[in-house]
Amino acid sequence: MIVSLRKEADRQEVVRELAARGIAVASVEEDREGGVLLVASPCSVVPSAADIERIPGVRSVALAKSPHPRVSAQGPTVDVAGVRIGGASPVLMAGPCSVESEEQVRACAAALAPLGARFLRGGAFKPRTSPYAFQGVGHPGLRWLREAADAHGMRVVTEVLSENDVPAVAEAADLLQIGSRNMQNFALLRAAGSAGKPVLLKRSMSATVEEWLLAGEYLLAHGASGVVFCERGIRGFDASMRNLLDLSAVALLAHVHRLPVIVDPSHATGRRARVAPKARAGRAAGAAGLMIETHPAPGEARSDGPQAIPLSGMAELVASLRHPFAAPAIVRTEPERRAGGRA
Ligand code: PEP
Ligand code: MN
Repeated sequence: MIVSLRKEADRQEVVRELAARGIAVASVEEDREGGVLLVASPCSVVPSAADIERIPGVRSVALAKSPHPRVSAQGPTVDVAGVRIGGASPVLMAGPCSVESEEQVRACAAALAPLGARFLRGGAFKPRTSPYAFQGVGHPGLRWLREAADAHGMRVVTEVLSENDVPAVAEAADLLQIGSRNMQNFALLRAAGSAGKPVLLKRSMSATVEEWLLAGEYLLAHGASGVVFCERGIRGFDASMRNLLDLSAVALLAHVHRLPVIVDPSHATGRRARVAPKARAGRAAGAAGLMIETHPAPGEARSDGPQAIPLSGMAELVASLRHPFAAPAIVRTEPERRAGGRA
């Protein structure tokens, strides 16, 4: 909101009057004619312009149409190092949950690129619920990802966990990932945005859509070249799923807000057998692409093994996504196949 003052206005008094209406002044600027402009931060209850114009000294008021104007203006596509997310072709991002070794990410890139995956994913820095769980290989993992992706013409998407790591992650990655647990880590959002690159913003498991969009606004306000949203499931009450994939939010972002949104069916379900059906549902809801976890040997994965599609099963999975009326592939690991029964 921009409040323009008359020359004779008592600035302090106007600021007090605005504060009494719940509006905080973020900055005071001069307009072209030497008048004063108060730039006020958006508040959840937007008062009417007429009410503010009654404050003595106020000449005019411009209310922002949206609490997240940069997100609203972004549009449905984001370019990531020459790959268009949100265009006519759906984008596949795939790779391991955690980067574990150079061989592992090389094997993933070599198998995934021929399937049409444009992005190699994998966490070098891992946000883990337990401090005793594998925390990621750190900086060498960034280099392994970059080299493996480059060898196969892929882009890199990887998570940045701390402000300190932003420069290194921004150098290695084409798309910086903000994980679910950090969606409202505002210091990290500011730092990640200021790298000037596109960001994949995963929705917090307990965030409203509005909070998610405002987190995107932080990134754009601090310099991100674009924001791609990622729905990865929210907390539900049913323990039979790791999370609850919010397809309504996907449809809302894609069709109402007209923003690029990716669906992550791996974290949404937690079980590999449910990944393909949820991937299909995500696409049907309007997702611009999918992010799927895979591993050369899921039984040996250092994180999220139960939801990883075996690398050898990715071709079957991708083929089933291409044919809208085919039954989704229920991909199992070898031990699961031998054991039979439900996955
Ligand atoms: C991930 O994609 O590696 C990850 C940790 O996901 P999320 O932040 O959605 O839990
Ligand atoms: Mn994971």
